Amino acid sequence: MGESWQRRIDRAAALADAHAAGRPLLVAYGELLRLQRDCDETLRRTGDRVTGSLERDLPALRGCVGPMLEAVATIGPPPVAEEARRILDAAEPAIDAMLLMAWHASSGHQFLPKIVLQPYAHWLASIGLRPTDRNLVPGKGVCPFCGGAPQLSILVSAGGADGGGRQLVCATCFTTWPFGRIRCAQCGEEDEHRLGYFHSPAFDHLRVDACDTCRHYLKTVDLTRQGNAVPLVDEVAGAPLDLWARDHGYQKIELNLVGL
Ligand SMILES: [Zn+2]
Ligand SMILES: [Zn+2]
Repeated sequence: MGESWQRRIDRAAALADAHAAGRPLLVAYGELLRLQRDCDETLRRTGDRVTGSLERDLPALRGCVGPMLEAVATIGPPPVAEEARRILDAAEPAIDAMLLMAWHASSGHQFLPKIVLQPYAHWLASIGLRPTDRNLVPGKGVCPFCGGAPQLSILVSAGGADGGGRQLVCATCFTTWPFGRIRCAQCGEEDEHRLGYFHSPAFDHLRVDACDTCRHYLKTVDLTRQGNAVPLVDEVAGAPLDLWARDHGYQKIELNLVGL
């Protein structure tokens, strides 16, 4: 499973210090990561009562949902803070329904289920407890553990413990799995003339992998160029590349936690 929540938090702080332009985004993301770390600790305390069925695990997760929503309502950017307050005012069944609906979709762009479901799914992956009620169709570009869509891809050097090459990183449980270097993670296109790789000198170890067949993209973090990168966090730090991709008519396969 690689990195810990703390490593992500530390990386967000380091990148915020290093890049003035991206600082507000990285500081905000760091705060969200702290909430997710606290949720992870709450789940760890519930220990073996977690079953892998979200429906049955909802009582354990409720211990995370309230504190998270309250914090987001206070520190979140206005649209998300407002949504958090609205959900806090809703009854428990409405919150449960929101989580279950997001769980049963392979990709989701909604912030609030995602901030809760990521630590839950990551916890399941870290103890090898496969989700039993996500019921997603297995496919070529989806996570072999939970069936979710990829958040990003990484390039790792050959000879490493994980075999080298390109891997996708799940947006829900953060599992990584090998994937073809020249292949669209959305539609499977393998014609190199239909696939574009876009790079900005401002982010030497990041690129946009875009497909002209389905018009989707994701970002790739090249760990062979920057070994201390933390993929999820460096992906967020490369926000200008998302704006570039959107301006060029590409749609992201899965939005990250800060909505980019
Ligand atoms: Zn997954
Ligand atoms: Zn495609």
